[in-house]
Amino acid sequence: MMKPKTTHDANDNLFEEADEMDGKLFTHNLGYPRIGEQRELKRATEAYWKGKISCDELESTGRTLRALNWAKQKAAGIDLIPCNDFSFYDQTLDLTCLVGNVPPRFRWEGEKVDLDTGFRIARGTDHHACGHGCSAQGGVFASEMTKWFDTNYHYIVPEFRADTEFRLSGTKIFDEFKEATALNINAKPVLIGPVTYLTLGKAQEDFDPYTLLDQLVVVYEEILRRLSALGAEWVQLDEPVWALDLSDAPLKALQAAYARLGKAGPKVIVATYFGPLRENLSHFLELPVAALHYDVVRGVEDLDRLLALFPTDKILSLGVVDGRNIWKNNFDASLSVLDKARRIVGVERLWIAPSCSLQHSPITLKNEPGLDPELKSWLAFADEKVAEIVALSNLKPETLEENRAALASRRKSSRIHDPKVKTRLAAVQNADLERSAPFAERRKLQHEKLKLPAFPTTTIGSFPQTAEVRAARAKWKRGEMQTTAYEAFIKYVIRECIEFQDSIGIDMPVHGEFERNDMVEYFGEQLSGFAFTENAWVQSYGSRYVKPPILFGDVSRPRPMTVRWSESAQTLTERPMKGMLTGPITILQWSFVRDDQPRSETARQIALAIRGEVIDLETAKIAAIQIDEPALREGLPLRHADWKYYLDWAVKAFRLCASGVRNDTQIHTHMCYSEFNDIIAAIAALDADVITIETSRSNMELLDAFVDFAYPNEIGPGVWDIHSPRIPSVEEMENLLSRAKALIPPENLWVNPDCGLKTRGWEEVKPALQNMVQAARNLRV
Ligand code: GLN
Ligand code: ZN
Repeated sequence: MMKPKTTHDANDNLFEEADEMDGKLFTHNLGYPRIGEQRELKRATEAYWKGKISCDELESTGRTLRALNWAKQKAAGIDLIPCNDFSFYDQTLDLTCLVGNVPPRFRWEGEKVDLDTGFRIARGTDHHACGHGCSAQGGVFASEMTKWFDTNYHYIVPEFRADTEFRLSGTKIFDEFKEATALNINAKPVLIGPVTYLTLGKAQEDFDPYTLLDQLVVVYEEILRRLSALGAEWVQLDEPVWALDLSDAPLKALQAAYARLGKAGPKVIVATYFGPLRENLSHFLELPVAALHYDVVRGVEDLDRLLALFPTDKILSLGVVDGRNIWKNNFDASLSVLDKARRIVGVERLWIAPSCSLQHSPITLKNEPGLDPELKSWLAFADEKVAEIVALSNLKPETLEENRAALASRRKSSRIHDPKVKTRLAAVQNADLERSAPFAERRKLQHEKLKLPAFPTTTIGSFPQTAEVRAARAKWKRGEMQTTAYEAFIKYVIRECIEFQDSIGIDMPVHGEFERNDMVEYFGEQLSGFAFTENAWVQSYGSRYVKPPILFGDVSRPRPMTVRWSESAQTLTERPMKGMLTGPITILQWSFVRDDQPRSETARQIALAIRGEVIDLETAKIAAIQIDEPALREGLPLRHADWKYYLDWAVKAFRLCASGVRNDTQIHTHMCYSEFNDIIAAIAALDADVITIETSRSNMELLDAFVDFAYPNEIGPGVWDIHSPRIPSVEEMENLLSRAKALIPPENLWVNPDCGLKTRGWEEVKPALQNMVQAARNLRV
């Protein structure tokens, strides 16, 4: 393997080598956030859906946002600026519309797929609360939506059938390129590549979607030719599938597609991101295109091999600035990468970029006046990342010094490093990850203490967050309502909620989580080590954006967080209350996480903090405690080979937080999904006394994993699909329970909904839970 001539771990002599290092690197961007600094896109699309603004007005908001985004990147000094990275909903959906792949149930006919048809695919034609996946009564159901790789962005899943025919059916990509050119922007149209599109879609019948490749590539060729005619020099095709485990079929498809697309029109840059290439590397380098983009942040393990093998006829774009996180780039580390690459590839063939599209970053630090200045000096959102790319392309000594100073302050800051946390963690023993008795023994003690009937009924935690509850919280947060008044109000709704549960006979009631806005934010606000922003929104799907907390420092729990609520709620009922906590992996997964220590270490810190809360709840006589981990599965790495390592530390983090209690305290966990086949051993290793999961939509079929594995502990398969407004009947839930009873030992079975009830209304919750309790009772006789 060819070795770089020199390694520069320390870059002290960097500026002495001006001859060899001369010349500014070419900069480009892979994609820019589309939502607007003030969430203008959300406001406009939602107003359009409600009929409050016209299509022209919506389009005009889109144009304004694009113009602003391009202007900002141009002013920052980016040489080649993405276009068609804008979308009113989702770029995968845009591609579906562009190639005319409208699912037949929408009965689309005509030349051009218009905006409304796109929205219909995304939202269905009967907009009930769930919005996705379920069949809407009377309407046409939306296409499914799922997570884009391991991000929190969700795309609309393309649907394929053996008779799917593609044809060019839109002009968005051309229009936006023309629009950019008219504004004097050196624009590069961006499109998801054909193989990623086929790989991420779902076959609606038994056939191989790659058989559609040929005709799909024909449409891409046409698109590329037209872009070329419009004067596009470059086009970027995103193929993040390169970061997955690839079988022969997609590998062949990639080679076949780019053998044609590489010569169809403009010069093609193929972008991969989100992970290392490993065994896919040589295939990637063989793609017959003009340029290749590589994510160095996630793929650094392949960097030396990539540089050594990099073909002499292509441009290499290195993504050195992390598009997935909010931390300032380490210029010394990036320079060492770029320096190495420059020596091998040469300055003319080396481009610099973010690791992936910046759509996964918040837009600007400028609108965060409330953020602590020291913390702020360590951060970079999209605009700051754009500036970093430009800075790195031709680094000035003073800029490097500034960056070094910011990073040094972060390394040393006492806001981040809490020796007490480190000492406590160092004292953790293996025994702290184990309950003191095995499940069989614990269960006996728990049953004696809890005295629950067979098929005990419970819920997942939250009850309706009514407009009234939300309004009270908003007032309190704005300082218009006193804390005492707010808390008295919350206590009042908790009392009502418990009285209701008692009146219908729920065996293990909950307090209803009315005091919480969000299951991560609520805990983050009370733990040290977290910061919150005002405007750092990131698109999750469509017009739904999230504002993840920033987990910047060592995590500890200054004081109990939920105990007083659970304790006072318990005084209102004779029945055993279930305390409600969010687990360490979910808190980690739904935050922007520090990058200066392994995620596993951060998870351990959170786990230790939550462990304290679990123990305090037990001391306050709460006999059952639920630790929610809905994000456990989404943390799974993209490559199968990395799963074991992740699951190992994730399971340990859960066990650390759950194992500090006595044997007669019942630990519950909850996960809002149902695919457990491939991770069931890890789920069992959590050793929760009870797990509640989502199963109602699959008619209990998804219990398979628990049956095949002979899952040892207690389990509550959801019997009410809370994503739909439909109220299930007693009979329906009884049928589901009978099926479940035939599959898993009846003495292990709990009765509960699929997930929390916070998005439902009381008018649905009351009859549905009443029916659920009746179904459980019918089973007992
Ligand atoms: N306890 C939470 C609730 O009921 C769980 C939410 C979730 O699983 N996402 O809302
Ligand atoms: Zn859930």
